[in-house]
Amino acid sequence: MSDSAEQLAPWEFAGLMLTYRCNARCAFCYTYSGPDRGGWMSAEQAVRLWRELDDHATEQGIVMQIHLAGGEPFLDWVQLVSVLRAARDAGLTRPAHVETNAAWATHDGLTRARLELLDALGVQRLIVSADVFHQEYVPFERVERCVKHARQVFGKGRLIVRWWDFFNDPIDTRHMSTEEKEAAFRAALAQHPDRMNGRAADEVAHLLPLHAPEAFAGAKCDDEVLRSRHVHIDPDGQVFPGTCAGIILGTANERSVGQVWNDLSANWPDHPVVSVVVAGGSYELARRAEEFGFRPQPDGYASKCHLCQHVRQFLFDHGHWPDHVGPAACYASTTS
Ligand code: SF4
Repeated sequence: MSDSAEQLAPWEFAGLMLTYRCNARCAFCYTYSGPDRGGWMSAEQAVRLWRELDDHATEQGIVMQIHLAGGEPFLDWVQLVSVLRAARDAGLTRPAHVETNAAWATHDGLTRARLELLDALGVQRLIVSADVFHQEYVPFERVERCVKHARQVFGKGRLIVRWWDFFNDPIDTRHMSTEEKEAAFRAALAQHPDRMNGRAADEVAHLLPLHAPEAFAGAKCDDEVLRSRHVHIDPDGQVFPGTCAGIILGTANERSVGQVWNDLSANWPDHPVVSVVVAGGSYELARRAEEFGFRPQPDGYASKCHLCQHVRQFLFDHGHWPDHVGPAACYASTTS
């Protein structure tokens, strides 16, 4: 690696995906989280990863920022609290934020008590989802309740709502026709463009203008994969680039997070997916997969990530590079 632009940046922002399980199965989910998906990161595993992330940052001379995500991390409240408590007791960095869809905020007292406990356990910010996709599954009054109490417990600067415009002007799609709902989804995607990864590639990407794969030729992913400084780690210790769930950079189980970073830093040109997307994005990945029989869909793709997810689904379904393309929770189930 002679070009410093092609060196792996230190990981500075890390999301611990406590579970793939979720009460919702949002059409724009960047994995395939839902009630039928599972896995739980134990408090012991979370604290080990947390400590290793902190150690990695210290070695790199930076400060790690860790957030807790899912799936829906509040689905197992006792487990979420045990992770936060164990991290605090171990003297690890304070959690940068916790994400939630607020489905659990069914009563004022319960909501207030939980938010106060998060605050007491050192959570710096709360991120609450509010968008047309989540509100297919989460009654909006629960989001309102969570935000009302979070404003009081965390204060304005420590509460983030994604998205405030939707929160201030919510749209209920539950009684809409398919055409009306698709129009609402299309408008939401125009307002807040998002990655077309995971279920989003299957369920909403077709609502956007589609292009032949050639349109994405030259759209390299070196920024997203090597330089974003952001990773997610799932319940099994599998490390993904921050925006590319389903591309396994390495697994932090028998190896520490620091060892995974060191290995990737030294050997990413040998990683069958990373090497290709860094050099030529999903267009090159598709060309590589054509050697295995992949064929692009005739309707085309909304974005390079839509194409990437489709190629990786093919690779996953056909068992290619299983150490690098997975796990099942990031891909459509072909068995159910
Ligand atoms: S095309 Fe693939 S590798 Fe590139 S940013 Fe999108 S999901 Fe990540």
